[in-house]
Amino acid sequence: MTPNRTTLENLTFDNRFTRKLPCDPNTANTRHQVTNACYSRVNPTPAKAPGLVAFSREAAHLLDLEEKACQSDLFTRVFTGNQALVDMDPFAMCYGGHQFGSWAGQLGDGRAINLGEIINHHNKRWILQLKGAGPTPYSRTADGLAVLRSSIREFLCSEAMFHLGVPTTRALSLTLTGEQVERDMLYDGRPKMEPGAVVCRLSPSFTRFGNFQILAARQENTLLKSLMDYTIETDFSLPGPLSQTSYELWFREVCEKTMDMIIHWMRVGFVHGVMNTDNMSILGLTMDYGPYGWLEDYNPGWTPNTTDAGRRYSFKNQPQIALWNLGQLANAILPVVKNPEPLQEALDDAIKYFRQGQDDMMAKKLGFQRFEPETDRSLTTGLLSLLESTEIDYTLFFRGLSHLDITKEPMENQIPPFIKKAYYAPDQVTPAHSNRLNAWIALYGKRLTRDRISHETKKQQMDRINPKYVLRNYLVQTAIDNAKKDFSLVWELLDVMRRPYDEQPDREMFAEKRPEWARHKPGCSMLSCSS
Ligand code: AMP
Ligand code: MG
Repeated sequence: MTPNRTTLENLTFDNRFTRKLPCDPNTANTRHQVTNACYSRVNPTPAKAPGLVAFSREAAHLLDLEEKACQSDLFTRVFTGNQALVDMDPFAMCYGGHQFGSWAGQLGDGRAINLGEIINHHNKRWILQLKGAGPTPYSRTADGLAVLRSSIREFLCSEAMFHLGVPTTRALSLTLTGEQVERDMLYDGRPKMEPGAVVCRLSPSFTRFGNFQILAARQENTLLKSLMDYTIETDFSLPGPLSQTSYELWFREVCEKTMDMIIHWMRVGFVHGVMNTDNMSILGLTMDYGPYGWLEDYNPGWTPNTTDAGRRYSFKNQPQIALWNLGQLANAILPVVKNPEPLQEALDDAIKYFRQGQDDMMAKKLGFQRFEPETDRSLTTGLLSLLESTEIDYTLFFRGLSHLDITKEPMENQIPPFIKKAYYAPDQVTPAHSNRLNAWIALYGKRLTRDRISHETKKQQMDRINPKYVLRNYLVQTAIDNAKKDFSLVWELLDVMRRPYDEQPDREMFAEKRPEWARHKPGCSMLSCSS
């Protein structure tokens, strides 16, 4: 058998999480508090009529599965939860979390069921997890189900983020259950029936900050240590036998991975929308795609999440919220680490790490070879304040900027043509704004000459970091609206987002700024947690 031609029946399972960590002794699939355990064994609820919507061939390759395997009936049945493969060992994880800044107690996988862990031919571990395949002991007052609308959003965005180079959990498949699910999408007392769906997600680990927090909250310190040791040994490559230093190094690494993820979010204009500690991956992967969104015009205070009245999770707040969440993780692991000092130091360094990373990222977005504080600090803050001063599309502006050829003269009082299409209302731009912009461009041009690289090289570098295509909010909503008819736009967006940094001449329409009709449309600019 060639390594990347595995059949579903031949997948190699190694269910380490359930083998090494304690299971909830209460085997009933009824809502309950789960103490002294990391998970509960629970089977997916078989769906009435499973049907394939889409799959990701790149995610399938992680499991050594070819496209043909994904087109089989068995694939649809397995990844909707209707059929188990022999070595699967399904379970739901126990975790807690801080939601919007307040401790919420036990949450857990209320509608996620891990099927098992695959080892691929590169010896890499991938956990299979269904989202929307029925209730678990952690479902609280909810139904354990997911609707097509939010599942299309999660499926497409997971894969788009991967191709954009942003750390993320992956999405293997999207299927329909053939059942209807009731949801009050706008929370306005007008519930509707919507098609039920299941996404199969893949990740080396689905462990969240909240998995540690719940154990700490219950003072289950021995188990807390077991989960920490397990995580370090399974998911982190730290040297030598475990010691106190390992925990400190581990926490440092979690801080850095988390900050790396945030820097990527800021680079591509992504707003997660619900950065509760139960949605924070210990591996620094973007996870739990709910009411997320992409910046259109550069508005740092923006969040797509209408449930977040205080805008706690707005674009600009993401770094400080990540830090706050890391602080909660530090509190949680303290009973095992014992000494708070190295944890506090790691948190302080995380701020520096972020600032440095953000500077480097901005320098790269601007096409500089490195960040030079004397000039680049004021250039970046100057630019961001310009972008904020009128409606300018974040993605299109940076993509357009790479066309700037410093050997050519600027045109007075005019927006240069290569960035004009980033403006939402180009006709309303005041002469004062164009002058300010051109003054900035003059300084920027001068700074570029110092790097002594050719226009072509600089342009290529900028086009590798400033995407042409992002998963614009209105595009996904259009795919959702079209899903009543067919899923062709789901497939097409999946395909467009495979090469987000390349020019795709026949797909210019997917790179256009948000059309006016989508400005206030639910699903485009406004999303609730209902999913
Ligand atoms: P979220 O806001 O999606 O991160 O979810 C917070 C918690 O609510 C997690 O424990 C989820 O598993 C749970 N949850 C969300 N939606 C549902 C649902 N439809 N059924 C059961 N649990 C849910
Ligand atoms: Mg969640």
